[in-house]
Amino acid sequence: MSSPRPIPPGGTIGILGGGQLGRMTALAAASLGYRVHIFTPEKESPATQVSDAVTVAAYEDEEALARFASKVDVVTLEFENIPASPVRFLEGKVPVRPGSKALETAQDRLAEKRFFNDLGIATAPWAEVASLSDLKQAVAKIGTPAILKTARLGYDGKGQAKIGPTTDLARVWADLRTERAVLEGFVTFEREISALVARGPDGGWAAWDIVENVHTHHILDTTTAPAPLTVALHDQAVAIAHKAAEELGLVGVLAVEMFVTADGRLLVNEMAPRPHNSGHWTIDACLTSQFEQVVRAVCALPLGTPRRHSDAVMTNLIGEAAKDWQTFLQEPQAKLHLYGKTEMRPGRKMGHVTRLYPLDSLRSKVH
Ligand code: AMP
Repeated sequence: MSSPRPIPPGGTIGILGGGQLGRMTALAAASLGYRVHIFTPEKESPATQVSDAVTVAAYEDEEALARFASKVDVVTLEFENIPASPVRFLEGKVPVRPGSKALETAQDRLAEKRFFNDLGIATAPWAEVASLSDLKQAVAKIGTPAILKTARLGYDGKGQAKIGPTTDLARVWADLRTERAVLEGFVTFEREISALVARGPDGGWAAWDIVENVHTHHILDTTTAPAPLTVALHDQAVAIAHKAAEELGLVGVLAVEMFVTADGRLLVNEMAPRPHNSGHWTIDACLTSQFEQVVRAVCALPLGTPRRHSDAVMTNLIGEAAKDWQTFLQEPQAKLHLYGKTEMRPGRKMGHVTRLYPLDSLRSKVH
């Protein structure tokens, strides 16, 4: 595989999106001597507080996109619900890593499930739903309990409805207000895990240890590193994420969320072609964080070692939980990260705290 020329320190990385993932990528970029230019439709955003330049414009504004492209050496993105057309527009002018294929697959739950199943990778049973009669047929085929999810623009449990044996399907379908959705069989999982891999433009790759995630009200609450898994399941999870990254030709990092069933099978739930909340622990517990690795990958630098030097539990600070910042600062093993958001709303990710433990002290006896 041909290796593109590295973008040396001093270069400028453009980031689409201005949230906390962009902020932490910008901080990692600064540590390696890069400049960061954020493109976001939002006036005030966590990433712009720590970046060199910002363009506030709609993603559809081609003049603004062209000006942005002329000022950066490479473009990456920090959230996947960016419309595909601006990404394709930018691809004609500057390298975009990851490219539109990864983005288009990850932002549509139907495309994502087909992608994994075509690779022989299992997901929960699912069916496409584009009308009430489709929904009735899908429920008859898959059974209940099941979850109906919009194909696009859903996150943190938004755009989802649980379906039981007595659910009024007509009402659920009307309330979802979408033209395309997927019905998924409800998985009774033993645990939820995620795999995180980085891939460079030369095909070189690196994987972090597999972690366990606990969600509360559909939002990630804690991530524990490492997950208590057998070596075989751990390796299988890494192989799934690597295969997906390879097939997508992804440059950057890819997170793949999976369910572990009671009988020891892995079922993929979804993926994100960008740094992921379940990878925040890598900042404090690994030699190379997911954010530094994105910078290395998109600038065609050698990838860093993802080795875990400590075990870790990352807890999201959601809404009011961030008010306890003084307590976290007094805990010797806690590392506090706040995202600079001025408005505290229920359900809003305001920061996270990572508690570090000696290496392998959290590892379960399963290993
Ligand atoms: P998602 O929006 O797909 O990331 O779902 C958010 C969370 O809802 C997941 O992390 C699970 O905890 C739960 N969930 C989603 N889909 C399913 C499913 N098919 N079976 C069981 N739990 C699910």
